[in-house]
Amino acid sequence: MCCRKCRLWQGAKNAVPGEGAVTARVMLVGQNPGSEEDKTGKPFVGRAGKSLNKVLAKNGISREELFVTNLVKHMTPDNRKPFPDEIAACAPYLAAQTREIKPKIVVLMGAVAWQAPRVEGVEYLEIYHPSAAMRFTKIRKKFEEDFSTLKKRL
Ligand code: URA
Repeated sequence: MCCRKCRLWQGAKNAVPGEGAVTARVMLVGQNPGSEEDKTGKPFVGRAGKSLNKVLAKNGISREELFVTNLVKHMTPDNRKPFPDEIAACAPYLAAQTREIKPKIVVLMGAVAWQAPRVEGVEYLEIYHPSAAMRFTKIRKKFEEDFSTLKKRL
């Protein structure tokens, strides 16, 4: 049975816990899965995922060496921002994943992800969300710079 700590399970086909290397030095964290992610159970496989894949490829970062996940693990109705109680219900999962994987850096993508619980000893980087980078040139520039900086630190 899926998690029922908040209401979001009711509209979802799949939980999207995240995927990647359990030994990853870097975790990427988004907001919540969208409809493509809900269908497949995998994070960042839709439009935002394509944008993310592009910036990773451009900087020679392979997705397989990362752990990619979201702050909230179920899709939201009409892809609205998750409510505070939904974030509060789901945040302990991300905290547990972070404690288990012990990455050096957790990259929080977008203002919702910036609310992620902090785990001691882990460095947090707050950057824009790939969807914002798709829409606005200035944001795209900063987003790309941040991945270039990340690559140098890997
Ligand atoms: N946007 C997110 O924040 N996460 C996903 O998994 C897909 C789109």
